[in-house]
Amino acid sequence: MHKDSALTIKNKFLSGENSASEITSCFLLRAKIIDNQTGALLSILSDRAMKKAENLDRKRKNGKSLGKLAGIPIVVKDNILIKDEITTCGSKFLENYRAPFNATVINLIDEEDGIIIAKSNLDEFAMGSSTENSAYKIARNPWNLDYSPGGSSGGSAISVSAMIAPIALGSDTGGSIRLPAAFCGVHGFKPTYGRVSRFGLVAFGSSLDQIGPFARSAEEIALMQEVIAKPCKYDSNSVQYPVEPYMDELSQSIQGKTIGVPYSILKDLEPEILKNFENSLKVYESLGVKIKEIHLNLIKYSVPVYYILAAAEASTNLARFDGIRYTERSKNAHTLEEVYELSRSEFFGKEVKQRILLGTYVLSAGYQDAYYRKAQKVRTLMIEEYEEAFKLCDIIALPTTTTNVFKIGAIQDPLQMYKQDIYTISANLVGIPAINIPTKLDKNSMPLGIQIQGPQLDDARVLRFAWHYEKSENTNKFYPNLFDKEMR
Ligand code: GLN
Repeated sequence: MHKDSALTIKNKFLSGENSASEITSCFLLRAKIIDNQTGALLSILSDRAMKKAENLDRKRKNGKSLGKLAGIPIVVKDNILIKDEITTCGSKFLENYRAPFNATVINLIDEEDGIIIAKSNLDEFAMGSSTENSAYKIARNPWNLDYSPGGSSGGSAISVSAMIAPIALGSDTGGSIRLPAAFCGVHGFKPTYGRVSRFGLVAFGSSLDQIGPFARSAEEIALMQEVIAKPCKYDSNSVQYPVEPYMDELSQSIQGKTIGVPYSILKDLEPEILKNFENSLKVYESLGVKIKEIHLNLIKYSVPVYYILAAAEASTNLARFDGIRYTERSKNAHTLEEVYELSRSEFFGKEVKQRILLGTYVLSAGYQDAYYRKAQKVRTLMIEEYEEAFKLCDIIALPTTTTNVFKIGAIQDPLQMYKQDIYTISANLVGIPAINIPTKLDKNSMPLGIQIQGPQLDDARVLRFAWHYEKSENTNKFYPNLFDKEMR
């Protein structure tokens, strides 16, 4: 059952071949075993999931109508609130924090009868590109346990890749869905900013954050988007248009369309990444798509711009973790001042502190104009540059990553780690939809991917390009040779 697509699992449930309880117990068992090896999960929600499954079995027996996600196991990144469940954000600060309400996406999944089985591991507060910054455990790539699964949504990428669930949710502030999707050989989609409600997602960089799905196929991504991409009155940036019929639009022709490629910024790629990128363009050409050179010269500033803006927003957002509300409190504190100081110094990890320091600095009097405002201006120029680019092409192709999958511990220099995101960050700064499409395996038998970016609000177009690639190359059949034979 674990190799089945979400839609097959759903159909088996609807036809009565498998009960929701059977499906759920099967995936819960996998979750335990695979988590032991990969560190993919931070909690397994056995009680919640079994209760939901029994409820679904009852509904089916009584002939009640069932939702779009009926019987489908789903994993959710542990920075998304589920009422009464622990939400750690990968941080010791929230080790015992139980969410008092559901994120909007959780309500939407519940309404459509999806079964949330676990919460996945991440870099602390989603800051990182390798899931090595989790305060709990390092996550490992199911294709080879010595390698990183990417980050920050590493646990969600592993969950789909190692078949803990056919669909998982992550969050993407600067690439945290697309990069781990590329490293684990699955699709990972960052929707248009505001398309999916951020209500109940623990804020990192509020003007950049976006929830999105991982899945093996573009069709399953489209299915999930139909459920979660809805207007939400609790998110002031929520796009107010009704959800689109993404699934119906997948197979529309892309023949005669144009892919724009900013060749001039692709010079420093590792040879295998460049080759993979070029080969993927050939696949599109064979599907009748034209390739055209475009210019996105400002992407070279995307890493500095992002690390100023994301850090500035993070320093503000994380001010709420003060040892008084939500969180753990230092036992060594005797005064109010010490409660703040010691709690923050004891329970935030190194990377998070680094970002808070950087963000506070770029927002401080005297430096705000030089850094924060300047970065905002460059962001506006990038938006304009993308608008011009989309006048010349229908879609933009970029590599997802700059390097092949790296080994755990291989990148120690934070700047090197930040540079991993050079090709993903622009989509967040500009607010456009973007997806990682798995393509091939490299010489170490680790996955490679490419990235497709579309114009704002045309999420359907991005999914369509992914669908055609996958149909042509059968890339929804990427199964890692799992460590445990019985789990394969
Ligand atoms: N790697 C980037 C960072 O560390 C992006 C993280 C994200 O998208 N959440 O900030």
